Amino acid sequence: MTPRAPTANGLHYTGIRPVPMSFAGVEPLSAEQLADAPLHWPRPSRLRTALGVKPPRAERAARALGLETVGDLLEHLPWERREARTIVELATGDTATVVVEVQVIKARPVRRRGMRPLVEATVADSTGVMKAVFFNQPWLERKYSAGTRLMLHGTYRGRNSFSVQAHAATQDAIGGRALVAHYPASQGISSTQLLALMRAHQGALDDVVEPLPARLRSGQRLPDRRGALIAVHFPDQPEDEPAGRRRLAFDELLLAQLTTMRRRERRRRSLVAQPLDAASPISNRWLAESLPFVLTADQRAAMADVRKDLAARRPMQRLLMGEVGSGKTVVALFAMLRAVDHGAQAVLMAPTETLAEQHFATLQTLMPGALVSAELLTGSTPAARRRGLLGRLASGELALLVGTHAVIEEQVEFARLAVAVVDEQHRFGVRQRSALDRKGPLGNAGERLAPHVLHMTATPIPRTLALSLYGDLDVTVLRELPQGRRPITTHLVSGERERARAYERIREELRAGRQAFVVCPLVEESEALQARAATVEFERLVAGEFRDFRVSLLHGQLRPKAKQEAMAAFAAGSADVLVATSVIEVGIDVPNATVMLVEDADRYGISQLHQLRGRIGRGSDPSVCLLFGSRESRRLRALAEHSDGFTLAEIDLRLRGEGEVIGTRQSGIAGFRVARLPDDQELLERAHRLAQELIELDPELIAPEHRLLVDALAEVYGEAELEPIPG
Ligand code: ADP
Ligand code: MG
Repeated sequence: MTPRAPTANGLHYTGIRPVPMSFAGVEPLSAEQLADAPLHWPRPSRLRTALGVKPPRAERAARALGLETVGDLLEHLPWERREARTIVELATGDTATVVVEVQVIKARPVRRRGMRPLVEATVADSTGVMKAVFFNQPWLERKYSAGTRLMLHGTYRGRNSFSVQAHAATQDAIGGRALVAHYPASQGISSTQLLALMRAHQGALDDVVEPLPARLRSGQRLPDRRGALIAVHFPDQPEDEPAGRRRLAFDELLLAQLTTMRRRERRRRSLVAQPLDAASPISNRWLAESLPFVLTADQRAAMADVRKDLAARRPMQRLLMGEVGSGKTVVALFAMLRAVDHGAQAVLMAPTETLAEQHFATLQTLMPGALVSAELLTGSTPAARRRGLLGRLASGELALLVGTHAVIEEQVEFARLAVAVVDEQHRFGVRQRSALDRKGPLGNAGERLAPHVLHMTATPIPRTLALSLYGDLDVTVLRELPQGRRPITTHLVSGERERARAYERIREELRAGRQAFVVCPLVEESEALQARAATVEFERLVAGEFRDFRVSLLHGQLRPKAKQEAMAAFAAGSADVLVATSVIEVGIDVPNATVMLVEDADRYGISQLHQLRGRIGRGSDPSVCLLFGSRESRRLRALAEHSDGFTLAEIDLRLRGEGEVIGTRQSGIAGFRVARLPDDQELLERAHRLAQELIELDPELIAPEHRLLVDALAEVYGEAELEPIPG
């Protein structure tokens, strides 16, 4: 058998040779069982191809789960108890597992042709009661009678309703009388049948290899890999399962860390950069004379990191993380001026025109008296101006360029690009990153010099995630907000009485000459609908609560000119209230705006709301943010209690799970199968340290005791990962 195709996220690694699986010992399924559990979890994408096919045998069903070999089977882990949530904890939109008891169960009559048969059950745990809805399985009405304990996986739709994607009856949910593993099943194969398959192949566990050298494993106080798999599938004691799972998670994290670090080394060594290590006449003068404020300790530390990175012959790859207003641009400008110190050029690339314009404006205020030449280049730069600018860039006369991705277009030539700053880097792809690398000049030996790159993000990411997401970047954090930022008080507003009081509060601020934002809900991922919601609300407020004030409207469907006018009017103070969609997230800086009201705040994520409220609290007056939404929402309560973006990001991660935090979905690396972040943070840190140690000791992993680890890497990430790292 040929090895399976590698997967990016550590699926499938068993450490045992792939052998075809035997289906002996598994009874053919009944028609009822065949259609059991309509959706497969946790790998729905694989199953979708098999949906609609009624697999006649367990074999087909197992294949539908992606189980082709014994190795796959042993890696198909049971549902995890620690994932289970209680009913009271569920928030609208959450996908979760719950353990409940059936109180009442009833099939809903099918009235029309084409209507999906539904079974509704009233289910309860010790915290609450809800309605569970099963699709396309009318027989469940008889199968799961009142009193049956169920493990349900699905999505909480709000209004006490839970749509079930997968389910299994369970005996051991409470007392732990019999320890039986429950597996994510699929159409055609039940959890019980999967357990039977496991038993049938139990003998294969003897072939599982231990990839960690004894020396490393003993230090980690973890069971061996074979023991871990046995503990997970056939637990004797309640603590077996979690211990086994920890070991499997550790392996997954270690392989991921090793891969990320090796990729980073490879990239780093394949590129050379101009070391910026000479004296610093311009940046020093700027630091000493031009800055209108005192740098925060974090900013100084960040500049020290940057100075050190720039002095190296390898390009800087640093991520600067800090909330809006934490002073990232100042650090970025420092990096850019270090290029100018060496007679070279620098570029700053932002994801939108508004952001590029904003950065350009900030740079200009930070460099009074036009310290060095700087220009703005975006899609709307007039052709004549653009031509002139490109000429001065190619001749080296122009030192700094700020812009959108227009700056990496083919025709844009730099005479000597040495530093690039990339804002909100997760919005740019790999291709854009390598386009930047190619903008550098040729060195003395004719080799291409890559620019040093500073990435910036205003999305605070907990350290756990930063390690797994940006393991290939060095990370610097600006936590401390500059002096003079006013704290924002955030209140949760529910019900009509509180709403009326909130409007009164806003009118007080308006009468005192200050301004307010009203943010309207993201009804769906549709700009048009969002615009309509804002427009309706605008009309309502103009005729009602704010009829004595000047109100303007801003949404994404307006023409660019109308948008600019609305923003300008608000910025100039000729509008008191700005009713807007979340387009105001970026691009508005109005210190006189001291109130923000967010309608249907439950519809936004924590980080989005936190970014939104960053639009107030920018002046000398205290600000207030009013979140209209449910008092039950843990997300909204977190926002009312905390103002630090990093704390909020940790909470967000805990509430939503790693895959949901902004930008992580695309990553692949964060999509772990066994490991759960942030719960397994401690394991991740250990894996990180161990990977570092291993790479320092044996970068190519050629020592004989690392042989099995290398096999594991190749099996999970592919042979290409084993290419030697260029020296
Ligand atoms: P970010 O890019 O992180 O959002 P900026 O660098 O644009 O933050 O800074 C936001 C504002 O705060 C700017 O007007 C900037 O001049 C100002 N600022 C930056 N650092 C400091 C500081 N240490 N003290 C006072 N004001 C600062
Ligand atoms: Mg900025």
